[in-house]
Amino acid sequence: MVMNCPICGKKHDVKLKRRKASSTIKGEKVQYDEEYFACEEVKGDNEFATAAIENANLLRARNAYREKMGLLTSDEIVKIREKYGLSQVDLSQALGWGEATISRYESKAIQDSAYDNVLQLIRINPLILYYLYIQNGAVLNKNKEGVLMQRIREELLASGREIIARDKLESFYITYNEATIENGFKCLDIDKLETIINYLAKKIKNLFKVKLMKMLWYVDILSFQMNNRSMTGLVYQHATMGALPIGHDAILQLDNVSFLEEMSPDYDNVKYHIIYNEKLDLKGLTKDERNIIDSVITKFNSMNTKEIVDYMHEEEAYKQTNDGEIISFEWAKSLNKF
Ligand SMILES: [Zn+2]
Repeated sequence: MVMNCPICGKKHDVKLKRRKASSTIKGEKVQYDEEYFACEEVKGDNEFATAAIENANLLRARNAYREKMGLLTSDEIVKIREKYGLSQVDLSQALGWGEATISRYESKAIQDSAYDNVLQLIRINPLILYYLYIQNGAVLNKNKEGVLMQRIREELLASGREIIARDKLESFYITYNEATIENGFKCLDIDKLETIINYLAKKIKNLFKVKLMKMLWYVDILSFQMNNRSMTGLVYQHATMGALPIGHDAILQLDNVSFLEEMSPDYDNVKYHIIYNEKLDLKGLTKDERNIIDSVITKFNSMNTKEIVDYMHEEEAYKQTNDGEIISFEWAKSLNKF
């Protein structure tokens, strides 16, 4: 690179060189790659570096220390941040840290191990970032929060890590963490959902998955009609067989939901027969809630899957929405007479 050489004072081509160097950081001796310029016009003391090169050397030395001590390197911190689509300030705030914290860790300062632990955790488990974010007061604006929640969900699905069904179901609802018309002004309540499913399973002999999903929708939409609030906080989508809650597979996998896999008579399909789980008590339901669930049971108890699907197909909520569309609780207004 041609430059005004500070060693000989002339303008000429100077080569950037690289060598192994060592340095002592926080009492630890570390080896790193050092870069420098050398003027070949002069013998002896002919080395120099620009401020940018000195900074880069310092960063490499500190990263060598981090690697030696098992801390994240600055590049790894950048990657974690980018994975979640956040700026340095946003990630700092999301974690409840001072605004400049991430910027310092990415550029020069070596992070304390407590901070490093948090960053390592959110690297492995997106749900931890989610929980910390909520705990720290959900400080980002709605646009940024939307991006973050979407990224968390994608990372969670892509991670393929073993997550318990409850986490899995929650991950589907990360983007519905506020009371809106889509969830019937209630955030997902998994304990309540498990109790309702168990209550239904206790009272209905032939409770199969599709029928259960329809009954949950009727429980929620009736609850909304009466109290302006759904019961479970599930969000339903328009599917061929009627309303289907987001994360329906994860619902069946919940710890307190029990089912038997049964073959249909033509041996082509496995049917999920939901059965009563005696371990879970049903005290979590109020009298009002039981009344609503009982009215749904009375209405559909004797219907088979096809009959309840046909019934749902006559609802405006179904007729006026398209495949995959979220069925808003607005439709409670035009629910067919119960
Ligand atoms: Zn020179």
